[in-house]
Amino acid sequence: MIERLAVIGVGLIGGSVALALREAGMVKEVVGCGRSLENLQKAQSLGIIDHFTHEVSIAVQGADMVLLAVPLGAMRATLQALHGHLSKGAVVTDAGSVKGSVIDDVKAVFAGMPDFFVPGHPIAGTEQSGAEAAFSSLYQNRRVILTPMPETADEAVRRVKQMWCQCGAEVTRMTVAHHDEILAATSHLPHMLAFSLVDSLARLKENDEIFRYAAGGFRDFTRIASSNPVMWRDICLANQQALSAMLTRFADELHLLAATLEKGDGEGLLTIFERAKKARDRYIDGVQ
Ligand code: NAD
Repeated sequence: MIERLAVIGVGLIGGSVALALREAGMVKEVVGCGRSLENLQKAQSLGIIDHFTHEVSIAVQGADMVLLAVPLGAMRATLQALHGHLSKGAVVTDAGSVKGSVIDDVKAVFAGMPDFFVPGHPIAGTEQSGAEAAFSSLYQNRRVILTPMPETADEAVRRVKQMWCQCGAEVTRMTVAHHDEILAATSHLPHMLAFSLVDSLARLKENDEIFRYAAGGFRDFTRIASSNPVMWRDICLANQQALSAMLTRFADELHLLAATLEKGDGEGLLTIFERAKKARDRYIDGVQ
């Protein structure tokens, strides 16, 4: 049971953790913290948080669990604001989509890795943001990756793992570098492609007509281009190295596809499409 949970950044991710823990009866009190008064009032009216403050230093006081769910670009300032205000025995975790940058921020602020910080990332989300987007079942049967450091206390990892399990998630562990490489491929690259496709089509002269005739395929492929641009700017910059490598690799594949088409090589196209269909069918079977 968490006595007092401080959620810094009460949006889709932080709000959904609070709702899931409340529904499971595993948290006594939730304090919300953020910049937008309107969002915090909304969170309170939706029963996500009991009360709120704009001051991180106040929000974390007396909290036994602190969840940082702000955009990656706001992590360092948030850590600076909570430094020196945590209660004895408090565990701090985050939900940031890139782990290397968060760990750099933590080390910079605390002059090393403190034993109470557990880096984490829920592999769940939608293209919506803000408290209103939060829902209690977001983490049901979804994965959460923890990337504890050698300095991280086992007890802190245990408590964070327990929190995510109470939200309905399955918790796994990875090294930081491995996490950032895998997520560059499976999440960050697809978001870049969706943003880039919609942007390039929107800038075509006949864009009105293109969007008017866009059907299900376009909608499915581009859903994630409705995601929060600030959050995604931060994610791309935070995972610049791994993501750049993935983009370069993908650009090579795209050139190969273009060349195959230019040659009118039907067999070549079929090979690529069949390989892709098999891989996706396997993935969907696995998910189901
Ligand atoms: P969100 O926009 O829904 O919520 C972020 C909240 O942080 C907002 O309420 C915003 O007001 C607040 N905020 C922004 N800057 C702040 C600051 N400087 N100080 C205090 N509060 C601030 O975003 P989200 O989808 O909940 O994402 C939160 C974190 O979770 C991000 O680090 C993101 O990388 C990570 N994440 C997102 C997803 C996803 O699919 N959306 C999935 C996994 C992890």
